[in-house]
Amino acid sequence: MGLEEKLPSGFLLTTVEKMAGAARKSSMFPATFGLACCAIEMMTTGAGRYDLARFGMEVFRGSPRQADLMIVAGRVSQKMAPVLRQVYDQMPNPKWVISMGVCASSGGMFNNYAIVQGVDHIVPVDIYLPGCPPRPEMLLDSILKLHEKILHSKLGVNQQEAAREAEEAALKA
Ligand code: SF4
Repeated sequence: MGLEEKLPSGFLLTTVEKMAGAARKSSMFPATFGLACCAIEMMTTGAGRYDLARFGMEVFRGSPRQADLMIVAGRVSQKMAPVLRQVYDQMPNPKWVISMGVCASSGGMFNNYAIVQGVDHIVPVDIYLPGCPPRPEMLLDSILKLHEKILHSKLGVNQQEAAREAEEAALKA
């Protein structure tokens, strides 16, 4: 006989990790900023037609200290790179990053000295979203994939940051 059959009906079993994951994924606050044309699609995603409010994340925060999601929407210029990193550093842990659009992920068509060839040179990225620009449906899909990832992530471990630190340490050695 399974454990569920021995317990009275209505009894719910879970783990602290899963509870924390469910709470975190259901109350994400994106940081407010956009870098280029992709940001227009991001703003559209936040408006009534696509309704980010149903995921508890309609409030784009004006302060990075109140945000736990960075959506890098558009190309990152070399001049903006340190600013972007500073915004990321000011966000409290745990935090996540979506690289929205081909420019943010790889520089896209801007293969030149002025544009960072992939925002993962600046901050650790959780989800890479292709497209130029990605439609709001695509951003919603990447948010849902990120929710899945958060639901199953370990407590107290920022895996992207840990991997990046290990990589940096290996490069210095
Ligand atoms: Fe603009 Fe396309 Fe680059 Fe997005 S991917 S910032 S829409 S050029």
